[in-house]
Parts: sequence; structure tokens; C-alpha cells
Amino acid sequence: MATCPQCNANASILKRDLVSGVCSRCRNSAPAVRLGIGSIALIFLAVVFANRITEPSQPASVSSEEIRELRLTVQAQTLMIKKLQSLLGNPLDSPHSDD
Ligand SMILES: [Zn+2]
Repeated sequence: MATCPQCNANASILKRDLVSGVCSRCRNSAPAVRLGIGSIALIFLAVVFANRITEPSQPASVSSEEIRELRLTVQAQTLMIKKLQSLLGNPLDSPHSDD
């Protein structure tokens, strides 16, 4: 049998407070504990709402400069593929030669 940490009386787990572990008698005589849990819940809710507000802005954070860099990377890789194809002497998708 578990005991209450405040009054050392035998108290079942069902009658004890889940957070502080005190029995229902001690919990009722200590409203400050409830207030603390309430404020923690409020802080938790505030954090959850703050995360929901900041989340949608993340996908829109891709700047036009980043898109330009990606385009240059694609162009460079396309040129590299063309060079490799000409080195192989077997162009796969260029019916007309660039020379
Ligand atoms: Zn107690």
C-alpha cells in the first residue's frame, strides 16, 4: 500500500494526485498545487499554439535566390550529362548534333 508523502497515511493510487502523489485530503487542503498544475497546462497550451502559428510559414521560406541556385544546379548537371553522352559516343536523346 502506498502512503501519502505529506501525511504518511495509507492512500490507494486511485485516491492520490497523479502529479504530486498526495492523498485527496492533502490535495484539497493545498490549492497551490492545483494552481501550479493549471499554470503549467496554460504554458503547455501556449507552446502548442505558438508551434501551430509558426509551422505554416516554413514551406514558404524558400527564397527566389534558392530557386535560382537550384536551376543553375540542374543546368550544370544537364551539361554534364550531355558531355558524358558525347564521351560515350552514343547520344540517347539528341537527334541533332550541337557541333
Ligand atoms: Zn495526505
